[in-house]
Amino acid sequence: MRGLMQGWPLLVHKIIDHAALYHGERQIVSRSIEGPVERTNYRDVRLRALRVAQALDRAGVKAGDRVATLAWNTARHLEAWYGIAGIGAIYHTLNPRLFPDQLAWIANHAEDRVLFFDTTFTRLVEDIAPKIPSIGLYVALTDRAHLPAANLPNLVAYEDLIAACDGDFAWREFPEDTACGLCYTSGTTGNPKGVLYSHRSNVLLSLMAASGGAMGLKASDCILPVVPMFHANAWGLAFAAPMVGAKIVMPGAKLDGASVCELLTNEKVTVTAAVPTVWLMALQYLEQTGRTLPDLKRVLIGGSACPRSMIEAFETKYDVEVVHAWGMTEMSPLGTMSVLKPGMRDLPYEKQLDYKCKQGVPMFGVEAKITDDENRELPRDGKAFGRLKVKGLAVASGYFKGEGAEAFDADGWFDTGDVATLDADGYMTIVDRSKDVIKSGGEWISSIDIENLAVGHPAVAEAAVIGVRHPKWDERPLLIVVLKKGAKAGRDDILQFLSGKIAKWWMPDDVVFVDEIPHTATGKIQKTALRERFGQYRWPQAAE
Ligand code: ADP
Repeated sequence: MRGLMQGWPLLVHKIIDHAALYHGERQIVSRSIEGPVERTNYRDVRLRALRVAQALDRAGVKAGDRVATLAWNTARHLEAWYGIAGIGAIYHTLNPRLFPDQLAWIANHAEDRVLFFDTTFTRLVEDIAPKIPSIGLYVALTDRAHLPAANLPNLVAYEDLIAACDGDFAWREFPEDTACGLCYTSGTTGNPKGVLYSHRSNVLLSLMAASGGAMGLKASDCILPVVPMFHANAWGLAFAAPMVGAKIVMPGAKLDGASVCELLTNEKVTVTAAVPTVWLMALQYLEQTGRTLPDLKRVLIGGSACPRSMIEAFETKYDVEVVHAWGMTEMSPLGTMSVLKPGMRDLPYEKQLDYKCKQGVPMFGVEAKITDDENRELPRDGKAFGRLKVKGLAVASGYFKGEGAEAFDADGWFDTGDVATLDADGYMTIVDRSKDVIKSGGEWISSIDIENLAVGHPAVAEAAVIGVRHPKWDERPLLIVVLKKGAKAGRDDILQFLSGKIAKWWMPDDVVFVDEIPHTATGKIQKTALRERFGQYRWPQAAE
């Protein structure tokens, strides 16, 4: 027998309708690309989103068409998202940190029809435009006064585009499984692959993000998504914040420690989210200036493993709770959250930290298991590690245009490419990405664990560990270190610091010092580049 409840479709534009009606005056603050901090509210964002929808409709954009954005987090970018999605078109976030050729490849693969871009990227857009014939309209996210002189066909200032529309327009009607957003994985192996979010998955993602088991969002919160909208849906915050009526603070193009901390303080931000590299900069800034974070209550850290020293610094020095999270583009991206279970808060702080360093417990809506290479499920004992596979309400069922099908099995499990353990309490720990794990004498060494310990050394700003060929052991760990400005430490100091904290056979055989560690477009350590750079590296004789 079927239930007798309404089939209220889960559509993303219902979120902004709700926010405008019930939290209309709630502010959205943006550090604008033009410079000043600007303020708007949910009522105006909705009205302007309707004008975006009307303008795109007039320009002939149809349901299912891809509309690209190459933009920082600002209110305009948010309006564009809702406007695009509200006519059944698909917002396609392009990551400006990719190489121009990769961007052109992705935009061509997606067959984007329109491109909204921040003026920071004008030269980049001019460069790639001739390679993307499908784009017929370029919208610079600015007003006429700031419209750059650019060699682009059909270029219009965003403010002019929407000024020509009165907003007397109704969102289109369509089923909830209609495609809504498109985001490509960074493609560290092979070509990037498109993840196609639906309205339904995005609405459910927002409910997950806002729930108590995740960020526990309320109307009284002020949220700063440092995580860019082009990095997997800004982890759901662009939908979850209006859903609960929270104030949003958009950081624009400035993600350095001083700029982020200024917004955190001036706007009295209570909840924020970003990858560890952003927080490395922010914590260094706080340390140097002696500033504090009086209003901030919670920080979500994910995208790569959060070092123990970072969790400790936030919690003990600044009284900010860290929620360590794991997820991926293919999961919209939320997967697990490391929130303490009842009783764990009574444990000694070091033990609490042990749990917080884990990637966390799957949220409702995510199923997870670990398997061996023959797809046999492994025990949840915190020791056995294997391929991490997931299913869920906001997990991809395949990639755009059918690529990468081998990652999805017949029973609907998606192979994350991560190697992990699951413990009896339900906490998942990422051992490594399967391609980064170091194979030494038939056993595996987690590069992540060593990196996270190494950054706990007071002189170390950032650390990376890669496996380098070894005549006897197949591979051995090489520790690559960036020292903090003005700090001094030698190879032996660092190894001494690690000694006793990890198994003897996990100890790196050598430490090299570099000025900079390369990062991927989503802020992860670029292991492929490091492996290339140290391809000719030879172990000191003693280590052989
Ligand atoms: P990319 O396109 O670079 O793969 P994603 O953000 O989708 O970008 O990356 C997902 C991957 O990032 C995960 O599979 C995992 O390897 C890594 N990751 C994300 N969060 C964490 C975390 N908290 N700890 C360790 N690794 C993480």
